[in-house]
Amino acid sequence: MKTSADLRDLLNRIDHRGYPAYKDTRGSWQFDGYVLSIDHVQGDPFAAPSKVSIYVPGKLAGFPAELYDLKHKRIALQDYLIRQFSRQVQAYTFKAKGSGKSGLLSVSFCGQEILERTACEIDLNGSVSVRMEIGFPANGRTINARELCRILFEFLPGCVKKSLYYRSLDAKSLKKNRELSEDQEFIRQELTRLNLAAFVANGSILPRESGISDRPMKNAVPFVSPKSMAVTLKLPYHGELTGMGISNGITLIVGGGYHGKSTLLKALELGVYNHIAGDGREFVITDGTAMKIRAEDGRSIKQVDISMFINNLPNQKDTVHFCTEDASGSTSQAANVVEAMEAQSRLLLIDEDTSATNFMIRDELMQRVVHRDSEPITPFIDRINELFSSYGISTILVAGSSGSYFHKADCIIQMDHYLPRDITEAARKEADAFPLPQESAEPSSKPSSARFVKPDNAFRKNDRIKVKIQGKDSVLINRETIDLRYVEQLTDPEQLAALGQLMKHAQLHLFDGKRTLGETAEELFKQLEQKGISAVCGGSYISSGFALPRKQEIYACLNRYRGIKL
Ligand code: ADP
Ligand code: MG
Repeated sequence: MKTSADLRDLLNRIDHRGYPAYKDTRGSWQFDGYVLSIDHVQGDPFAAPSKVSIYVPGKLAGFPAELYDLKHKRIALQDYLIRQFSRQVQAYTFKAKGSGKSGLLSVSFCGQEILERTACEIDLNGSVSVRMEIGFPANGRTINARELCRILFEFLPGCVKKSLYYRSLDAKSLKKNRELSEDQEFIRQELTRLNLAAFVANGSILPRESGISDRPMKNAVPFVSPKSMAVTLKLPYHGELTGMGISNGITLIVGGGYHGKSTLLKALELGVYNHIAGDGREFVITDGTAMKIRAEDGRSIKQVDISMFINNLPNQKDTVHFCTEDASGSTSQAANVVEAMEAQSRLLLIDEDTSATNFMIRDELMQRVVHRDSEPITPFIDRINELFSSYGISTILVAGSSGSYFHKADCIIQMDHYLPRDITEAARKEADAFPLPQESAEPSSKPSSARFVKPDNAFRKNDRIKVKIQGKDSVLINRETIDLRYVEQLTDPEQLAALGQLMKHAQLHLFDGKRTLGETAEELFKQLEQKGISAVCGGSYISSGFALPRKQEIYACLNRYRGIKL
C-alpha cells in the first residue's frame, strides 16, 4: 500500500495546479496506526466536499470484545466513537483556508437518539471505520496542497489518535456506555416478557428544552409512575428501576390542556430508539414497532384497503383498493393505520390534536341525525378493540376533549401537572352513567395487501439518478418528492438519506411486478440487516451520511412514493 509519505509527495507535486489534479489523491494511504482512504474527490471547491475514511485495524484500536460483541453494544460503541471523533474534529473545521468549502471538516451530527450510521462501523474483529467529509482547499480553483497537508498530516492524526483507540479513551465512560446499552436492551426484552407496550422510568425527564432543541428541559418535573402501574425491573447494571408499565391493550391519556399529555406521547414515540446518557429518556422504552398515527391531508394513497374504516363513498370510489393523490384527513389517517398493520406494528400512538375528528369519533347526536347508512366512515373508536383482539395491536391515545374512548380503554391515565394518575376506575364509573349508543360496527375482514410493484424501465435506463433530501421533511428522487414531514418517528436527516438510497435500490433491483410493496419493504430491510446499510446505500465506495431507519419507516416511505407504479 502507498504510504502517507507518498501522499505528501503527490500533494507537493500537484500544488498550484488546477483543481481536478486532486483526483490523483484517490485511494488508500498507510498512516501511522491507520489507513486513510480518499474515496471521492469533489469536482471543484464549491461542490459537495470530498469523502474520506479512516480505518483502524482491530488489533491497534484495541477495544475489548465485550464492548462490541453484541449488536446493541456495537451500535452504542459506534455512536460513542462518532461523538468523540466529531468533538475532536470540530476544533479544526475551516482552520485550513481557501475558497468555497476549503478546509471544511465534517462528521455526522448525532442527536439524542443512538442510531446505526455509516459514519462509523465496527466489524467482528473490532476494526473501526470512520467516515467524514473534507473540503479540499483551493485558492480560486487552484489547488492549495499545503492547506490539505495541514489537514491530513497535522489535524487529523491527532483527532484519530485521541478518539479511535481504546487506550486514549476513558475506559470508565466506555464501560458506562456499554452498560447503558445493555440495560436498555434488557428493558426491551422485559417489555415482551411482562406483556408491556412501553415503560417510562421514574425520574425520567420527558419535555425538551424548546421546539428547536432536543436537549432535556431544565427544572422539569421528573416523571413518577402511579402506584397502581408501577413495575420494578432489575436491570443488569443499573439495578432496581421502578417506572410506569403501560400494558398491551388500550390506554388513554387524558388531562387538561398543557398538563403534559403530548409530551408523554412524544417521548413514547421516540422510545423506539435508545437515547444517550443524560438525555432524560434513557429508560423510556417503547415497543420497537410502535407507529405514530396522524391525519396527513394531501398525502398520496396507493391501492390501500381502507374498507375497515371507510366504505360506500358517495362517488362509488373503491375503498378496498383506495387510491388518491390528495387524501383527506380521515382517509389519510385510515391509510396510516392500515399501512402500520401491514408493517407489523404492534402499537399505535395517536394524539387527538393531530387526528381527523371524523376519523376518531361520531358523537351521539350526530349518530341520531345522520344515520349510519349515510356515513361512509366507521370511526377508529369502533375498531380500536377489534384491532387488539383480532390483530394484537395496542393503542395509546391522547384524548383531551372526547370522553367516548373511556368506554373502550383498559387503562386511563390522567396527566395532572405533568404527573400521571391512574383514574381508570373513577373514569369507568362516570362512563357507565353515559352509555355509548348501541351502534356497533360489523367486524371487518383483514385488509388485503397484495399490491404488486411494477418495474419502471424509464427509471432503470436513467443513469443519472439524483437523490437529495431536505432535512427531515422529504426525499427527492429525480424530480419526485417523497413527503415525509408527518412520518414523525424519523428522527434524523441521515435516515431520510438512507431511505432515498433504498428507494433507488428498490427501483433498480426489486420492483419487478412479482413482489408486493410489503415484500419489497421486507427485502430491503433484510438486506440492511444482513449486509449493513453501507452495502445497500453505498455505490463504488461507502459514504458517511446514512443512518438506519426502522422497517416501519421503509414501509412509510414506499407508501408515500408517488413514483411507484402498481
Ligand atoms: P398537553 O398536550 O397536555 O396540552 P404538552 O405536553 O404540550 O401538554 O405540554 C405543555 C407544556 O408543558 C409544554 O411546553 C411542555 O414542554 C411542558 N411540559 C411538559 N412536561 C413537563 C414537565 N414534566 N415538566 C415541566 N414542563 C413540562
Ligand atoms: Mg397536546
